[in-house]
Amino acid sequence: MTAILNADLHCHSTVSDGTLTPEALAERAKARGVELWSLTDHDEIGGQHRAMAAAHAVGLPYLTGTEISVTFANTTVHIVGLGFDPDHPSLVQGLAQTRGGRGLRARDMSDDLARVGIQGAYEGALKYVGNPELISRTHFARYLVETGICADTNEVFRKYLTEGKPGFVPHRWAQLGDAVRWIREAGGVAVIAHPARYDHSPSQEYALFSEFKAHGGQAVEVVTGSHSPAEYVKYADMAIEFGLAASRGSDFHSPDESHCDLGALPYLEGRLTPVWDLLADRIH
Ligand code: AMP
Ligand code: MN
Ligand code: MN
Ligand code: MN
Repeated sequence: MTAILNADLHCHSTVSDGTLTPEALAERAKARGVELWSLTDHDEIGGQHRAMAAAHAVGLPYLTGTEISVTFANTTVHIVGLGFDPDHPSLVQGLAQTRGGRGLRARDMSDDLARVGIQGAYEGALKYVGNPELISRTHFARYLVETGICADTNEVFRKYLTEGKPGFVPHRWAQLGDAVRWIREAGGVAVIAHPARYDHSPSQEYALFSEFKAHGGQAVEVVTGSHSPAEYVKYADMAIEFGLAASRGSDFHSPDESHCDLGALPYLEGRLTPVWDLLADRIH
């Protein structure tokens, strides 16, 4: 296939921290000209059968997807998986284990917010949760906006819930090698998500790309909602340097919160191998 394809291979539904259902996302993707779609909920594939059925109902080619939380060099890194069998046991179990710590973490986040005078944050965040196994910082952020403590979720993540700020609770997620292995064992392709969003030094970034590749990772997001045009070029160069295919996805969460809508990004550069070339037989 060609790099000139309106593929959107990264977004979130109510099954994780998005505000639209898988069905509403499929319709929105189709209406915005997306030609190949994947729903990539955090640490969760419970929405995959719904997303695929909804994509078929509107005539939209679909790849299965997820976004796995990983702890790498004491930082959190996200690894997208695409085109896997959503019923494969090692992936299903690995994701269940990765989700497992979220409930206790959320209680600890709430306790930490209470120390700065914000009461009832756990219960407040729960009102926004669509999947009881997937309470995330995004749900807390929505509650802090609702209460007027912050004007929008960007302000929340500047003042709360991030390292060194109230409500941040360090957490150990999956290991990089395990996340890549679960995706590969289920027949999928592993993708480094939004690499520009990590606070890595150049040597840490080099280590991430090298170790990811050594574990069998095959692609990197080059064009994504949180990258600047200069970052599209930087990560296109790195994709070529490391022999990785390139992916493209908005990381859309909500019409009210996301600045980048489904299908609204520039195309991948023609010099890149699009990740969908590796997944042609997995598009349904
Ligand atoms: P969690 O998996 O619970 O740690 O939550 C991570 C989610 O919080 C991300 O997937 C984003 O949706 C959201 N998030 C994290 N940092 C920011 C930020 N700086 N601005 C907006 N949303 C953020
Ligand atoms: Mn998110
Ligand atoms: Mn992410
Ligand atoms: Mn995401």
